[in-house]
Amino acid sequence: MWCWKAFKWLPVMLILAIIIWSYYAYVIQLCIFTIESTVQQCIYLVIHHILLIMFCWSYFRTVFAEIKPIPERFKLPENELEKLLSAETEDAQRAILDNYAKELPIVTRTMSGSVRYCNRCVLVKPDRAHHCSICSRCVLKMDHHCPWVNNCVCFFNYKFFMLFLGYALVYCIFIMATCLPYFIKFWKGDFGAAATTGGYHIVFAFFVAMMFAISLGSLFGYHCYLVINNRTTLESFRAPMFRGGADKNGFSIGRFNNFKEVFGNSPNLWLVPVFTSLGDGCEYPVRREHQLQTFTTPQETHGYESMGTTRSSSESGRESERWRLCPRKGRTVPQIV
Ligand SMILES: [Zn+2]
Ligand SMILES: [Zn+2]
Repeated sequence: MWCWKAFKWLPVMLILAIIIWSYYAYVIQLCIFTIESTVQQCIYLVIHHILLIMFCWSYFRTVFAEIKPIPERFKLPENELEKLLSAETEDAQRAILDNYAKELPIVTRTMSGSVRYCNRCVLVKPDRAHHCSICSRCVLKMDHHCPWVNNCVCFFNYKFFMLFLGYALVYCIFIMATCLPYFIKFWKGDFGAAATTGGYHIVFAFFVAMMFAISLGSLFGYHCYLVINNRTTLESFRAPMFRGGADKNGFSIGRFNNFKEVFGNSPNLWLVPVFTSLGDGCEYPVRREHQLQTFTTPQETHGYESMGTTRSSSESGRESERWRLCPRKGRTVPQIV
């Protein structure tokens, strides 16, 4: 068990080692020993440190993000579980789950149309939640389990993960661009005495940065596409199932609203690795055709705030600033403008 836990930290340790070595190669070997102009040294060092701090900040927030458990109300109580286990047919089990899930804010179903249930965690899965076999638990808005951060990328750290990819990409491009003239110099043999020591570090830093920039660029591009379409990686492989059938765009509420669902309403905090994602991770606005039948007619309001969730009105108070709700009979109205 301890071996497995230590093994899972290896990719994080590898990234850490690369960051420390790249700091030595760039700051000591390039900026201090190779670059002669003081002005150039200062500019490179300032930009390098700003990018490195933002990259490490978002990376470690992704790694150490607290993945909160699924709320208690989704967990099957003892008596319901007994009923479920003693049910003889699949239809009877389905009826028990359907009945229990009536009060829960869920709109997605399994392929067969029944309530999504995790028998390992003994709970009704909230919309977009999935069981992670590596973390051995259900995770809200699970995107994927990432070995490079030794954590699940999910509702609680998706913004950090996006910023980590973005800052890491800019950091690699910056290292590539500033190392390029020295890389060419080295290649031509104009490096003089430094060629034996610093030169190799700079050339290697250029290659490592280029390799990471290519892989980060494609991953970041793919996740930008997912954010503006409001899909998780899992949903991009298998579209979520609604009452009316599968719909890969079921959670999409317009590109800018999709972006704000992850990055929040405040533009000042979009690029800062602090948690600003909207909602509680259990309930999401859905397209009009997937809204529950019992809901009231959406009011004529505009913008993201007008999109209610499937939250019950008793729990809505603290979130009402961020999610405008339209309660009736204890329910709220998800609406698309
Ligand atoms: Zn589970
Ligand atoms: Zn996981």
